[in-house]
Amino acid sequence: MSGAVSTGGGHPHLGGDEPIASGAQTARRVLGQSLPEGIGSFVDDRVVLGSGEDVELVTPATGEVFTSYRDAGPDVTEALLQSSTRGAGLWGEMNPFERAAILREVSRVVGEHAEELAVLESATTGKPIRDARGEAAKVVEMYAYYAGWADKVGGQTIPVPGDWLTYTQRVPWGVVTAVTPWNAPVFTAGWNSAAPLAAGNAVIVKPSEFTSATTVRLAQLAHQAGLPAGVFNVAVGLGASTGAAVTTDRRVGKVSFIGSVPTGRRVGAAAAAVGIPTVLELGGKSANIIFADADLDRAADGAIAAIFSGAGQSCVAGSRLLVQRDVHDALLERITARAAKLRMGDPLDPQTEIGPVITAGQYATVRRLIDAGVSDGARRVAPSPATSLPAGDLAGGHWVAPTVLDGVTPDNTLETTEVFGPVVGVDVFDTEQEAVLRANATDFGLAGAVWTADVSRAHRVAHAIRAGTFWINAYKTIHVAVPFGGFGDSGHGRSSGPGVLDEYTQLKAVWVPVQPAGAPFPSLGY
Ligand code: NAD
Repeated sequence: MSGAVSTGGGHPHLGGDEPIASGAQTARRVLGQSLPEGIGSFVDDRVVLGSGEDVELVTPATGEVFTSYRDAGPDVTEALLQSSTRGAGLWGEMNPFERAAILREVSRVVGEHAEELAVLESATTGKPIRDARGEAAKVVEMYAYYAGWADKVGGQTIPVPGDWLTYTQRVPWGVVTAVTPWNAPVFTAGWNSAAPLAAGNAVIVKPSEFTSATTVRLAQLAHQAGLPAGVFNVAVGLGASTGAAVTTDRRVGKVSFIGSVPTGRRVGAAAAAVGIPTVLELGGKSANIIFADADLDRAADGAIAAIFSGAGQSCVAGSRLLVQRDVHDALLERITARAAKLRMGDPLDPQTEIGPVITAGQYATVRRLIDAGVSDGARRVAPSPATSLPAGDLAGGHWVAPTVLDGVTPDNTLETTEVFGPVVGVDVFDTEQEAVLRANATDFGLAGAVWTADVSRAHRVAHAIRAGTFWINAYKTIHVAVPFGGFGDSGHGRSSGPGVLDEYTQLKAVWVPVQPAGAPFPSLGY
């Protein structure tokens, strides 16, 4: 297709000197450069095309089909499980200092290819290139961080009564399967692979069927950096077939899952039925609470970033904006003015801030939930009727303008339903107690924020909100060094920070009698 927006030709990952723009032709070209074999599972040291059901991929910016591939199917899945079992044996026995050196090299090689990964992500999933660049850089950081931990996973010696030396060891699970969603493909692939690898496990990543390309390329780069065959495999295909196979096979020791609540529950229950434990990172409906004494300009900037970055397709999105009554009008004015200026358009244009919604199905869900919010009594204050959606070559894309709905009261559908799109529901509160009760009136518990100049209140509210991550006068920052995960319906277990090494290892206790020769056999009983 011809270019709607020129991002400058000659980019090494976009080819040639012609102007480029998101669309089927660019997606095919970029995909062909990174994965000339096409989309297939990464098994051992190569891409293996599947034999299962056909999966068509659409460029979200234009709505055009750009390629199709086949679900892994049973033969590839079996080969992959065998390969990962071998990989786990090899990697688990390797000296931790050698593992650390290889993971540092993975970080370096991914860094060298970060721009390639970003372009591949943007061209195939519609994520704005500026966000894709940030997320690829985060993968470099994740591998560097966990490379640092790889040679520091140790146990303890534990004093006990009697003549014993008693110590613990941390033992990898073997094969860890990481199931990831479509909203941050390369980011979540890095997030849930670096830590289990550092702990001595092999990983199988099962990316979303809509966004597999960068995960396959990441595995290829990790192998190129020195990860032995079978240590980082990728199972490409549909959830119900390939996803189910790699999360319920007894050769898998542990499963981490990032995705929606219903699927997470299904995956967790199926894995538990065969004795496989899970870490679940699920959705959210996070409250962003703004008090009248807050710096309203910063709070408005924060509220915009909280909901509209990633077109709202973010698990921690601040989708419920609770504003103290006195500043409601002033804040809404700032937010609607800022929302109107957000640049929606070609994902490959570095100026673009808001890309399309990823799939046609998700687009329909977002539109349906906006309508439900309005019919439940909310008032649409943005976009203004004058707002135009990307046109020309991009007219067929899944575009939703940043949407602000005021008066989303507790009985509104939008109060409790995760939209996963660029839609924020606003309502007022009068007292701190009311704000806390309202923020906690959800089964989710992923994230939240408070904006206030009162330090004591900030910490009171942070303490009172039931969520795994909370910001004071900020929103959305997360880092691999800091624990991340949910309360309630938002999941269980943590997927970052040093503590995650405990998630990805089992604790073994070793007892050795050390009494003098000839002493009676020491027994503690139990
Ligand atoms: P989804 O639940 O539809 O799919 C997630 C993954 O599960 C995909 O790879 C899918 O193929 C796979 N899957 C589906 N059925 C399966 C099965 N039976 N067995 C094994 N795997 C199966 O989620 P999505 O629509 O891709 O992502 C959006 C959701 O993810 C949102 O709810 C969002 O909040 C959540 N999310 C959470 C976090 C977090 O860290 N908490 C991060 C990003 C996204």
